[in-house]
Order: sequence, then structure tokens, then C-alpha cells
Amino acid sequence: MKSLKELFRIGHGPSSSHTMAPAEAAEIFKKRFPDAPFYEVTLYGSLAATGKGHFTDQAIIKHLAPGTTEIVWNPDTVLPFHPNGMLFKAFDKEHRELGKAVFYSTGGGALSEEGVKDQSEERYPFKNMQEIISYCREEGIPLWEVVRRFDHEDIMEYLEKIAIQMEQSIETGLMADGVLPGGLRLARKARNVYLKSRSLRQDILRTGMISAYSYAVAEENASLGIVVTAPTCGSCGVVPSVLRYCRETRPLSRREELHALATAGLVGNVVKQNGSISGAEVGCQGEIGVACAMASAAAAAIFGGTVPQIEYAAEIGLEHFLGLTCDPVMGLVQIPCIERNAIAANRAVVSAEMALLSDGVHFISFDTVVQTMLQTGKDMPSLYRETSEGGLSRFAKIK
Ligand code: SF4
Repeated sequence: MKSLKELFRIGHGPSSSHTMAPAEAAEIFKKRFPDAPFYEVTLYGSLAATGKGHFTDQAIIKHLAPGTTEIVWNPDTVLPFHPNGMLFKAFDKEHRELGKAVFYSTGGGALSEEGVKDQSEERYPFKNMQEIISYCREEGIPLWEVVRRFDHEDIMEYLEKIAIQMEQSIETGLMADGVLPGGLRLARKARNVYLKSRSLRQDILRTGMISAYSYAVAEENASLGIVVTAPTCGSCGVVPSVLRYCRETRPLSRREELHALATAGLVGNVVKQNGSISGAEVGCQGEIGVACAMASAAAAAIFGGTVPQIEYAAEIGLEHFLGLTCDPVMGLVQIPCIERNAIAANRAVVSAEMALLSDGVHFISFDTVVQTMLQTGKDMPSLYRETSEGGLSRFAKIK
């Protein structure tokens, strides 16, 4: 397992796999051929199918400028390693090829290059959640302490930066009005839900506040604002809103909040290692489902859950999103994505409460759910894996 620095990344929305990683690939390629006047970038599979709605072309063109870039859309070809493949080519002014490279966007903003060995370091000596739990039991430590022991020395300072950006995305989103970019003309609703919620009865207040915070971040993401991948851009509203809700409803020190964030990160890391957080690979269960599991674990840690109860909370959070398809209307990270963030955040708090009401003993382990999620994703037709060919994207009537 790698550092949490590779899970939580700060960057521009709307998509970690379709915007952030392609932008980074363009930056790397540009450094190799900085003076090339022409570039050609072929997008394959899911990147081509939903790249326009996810602004993939704009992100690439911007990073290869001032060179002229032609984007070739090839949704029908899927490269063998991953559904999100990209072929970059650079040309001189006589249109002779100077060089090329194939990159894959593997989910959550992560990038890999064909023929290049992954340089990033393995930091955690665990294969799955079960091994982490056994280690915690032997050492008598909570889950966050595993992060402190095995991740980079400055990981807590890094998580503090992440927490600050998460909060900033909520604040910016709560102050914004107007319609989201991309053609659906979907109006932002975070501010309105927030204002209304303040005068609601206690039971509805919770739904209102958690939803307002999730909308705020997801709407910022949809408008290409700055967010944190948790685990992806599409699902970036879930963890921040649950953390803010917890902070507002009980005494919670910054230290405890960072411990909860570390716990959430560990859950996301296990999925990254043994499952997938790529909508193009396993559908939305890998994005919203995993975000819900991370936020459930964070909330359970804040509520004082034991290690088995926190693992149970994460398991509940993901289990009931198994099979969730990815079907963004018009390829935009708006419908159903924004509302889905709010649903998952509300569900995360309930999952944590259910786990805390138990003794932590349960039948299905988190590792089993992760394994099931990966297999379910493999069994899903590509229609439901970020291609915008099936589901809501097929049947939604655009006004
Ligand atoms: S439906 Fe889910 S996986 Fe697909 S783009 Fe939206 S948030 Fe991401």
C-alpha cells in the first residue's frame, strides 16, 4: 500500500481520472518535447466516451499550449491495461513525429506510463484490512496510529493541508450561485439548502446540513473548482461534509479530526490496493461507494468506535452501494453525481451509528466487500462504467 499522499490529492475538478491525470500526463509529455509546435492526443475507451463532458480535451490542450493540439476521440478501442488510455504524439513543423508515449489514468488522479515501472514507494506492509486489524490488536493501537507509523513522517501535516482544502471547498461552494458549466444548465443548490436547513427541526436539520456541505463541494468540482480527491473528484463531497457535520455537532479537536481523516484514508487505500476507485473500471460503487466507506469509518472513529466497529462501519458504507453504475448525463459530473454525494454522506453517518450500536461482530468483512465490488465491476457491461451509454445518461430527457 502506498502513501495517503497518493490518495488525497488537491486539484481542479471535475474528474480525477478524466481531468487531473490527463492534465498531468500532458505536463510530463510537454517537458519531453517543450518546443514541439504540434501534438496529437488520442483518447481511448471511457476517456473518449465521457471526455468532452469531463473537460479532458480542455485540460490537455491547456497543458500542451502554446503548441497546437489535435484531440482524436476513439471510444470504441480499449487499450489492454485500463479503460482510460491516452496516446500522446509530438510533431515538428514539417509534421514529422518527434516522439510518443502511452499513459493510463488509473483512478483517483493516479497515472501510469506504458513501459515505465511504477516508481512510487510501498509504505504499508499489509495486504488487506484483516492484516491491519490484526496489527492493531497486537499493538493495542487505533487505526490512525497505523498511518502515523508507516506513512511519511510529515503525513499529519499533509492531512492538515487536506482538511483545510476540504473546508475551503465547502465555504466556496456555499457562497456560489448560478448554473454549472457544460450545457445541462443545472442550478447550484448548496447555498439554498444551507439557508433553509438552519431553521429546520433537529431531525431534518442533519439531512439538510450534510446535504448542503456535500452539494457545496460537488458543485465546486462540477465548476472546475479546487477540491480534494476522496477518493476521486466525482465523490469529493462525501468525506468533507461528514467531517464538518461531526465538528459542528460535538466537541472535536483538530487532532481528532485528522485522526478520523487518516482512518478514512486507510480504508480508501485498502480499496485502491485490492479493488478499484476508478468509475471506468468498476462503476460508481468504486467512487461514491468507497467515499461512503471512508466517511463511515471517519465518523465511527469520531464517535469513539473500536477498531472492529470502524471496520464494520466501512463495510456497511460500501456493501449497500455494491453494483452502483456510473451513468453521468451528457458525460458531465453533475447528474447523478452531485446528489449521490449527499446521499452517500448521509448514509455514512447512519452506517457509523449502526456499527456503534453493535459490538462490531458481523458476518461479511470489509475485505470481502472490496473483493465483491471488484468482481461486480468486472461483470458489469461497459455501458455502466463511465461511458455515458447506459442508465440515466441514456434515458434522461434533457430540457
Ligand atoms: S456517476 Fe459516480 S463514478 Fe460516474 S462520474 Fe458520477 S460520481 Fe463519478
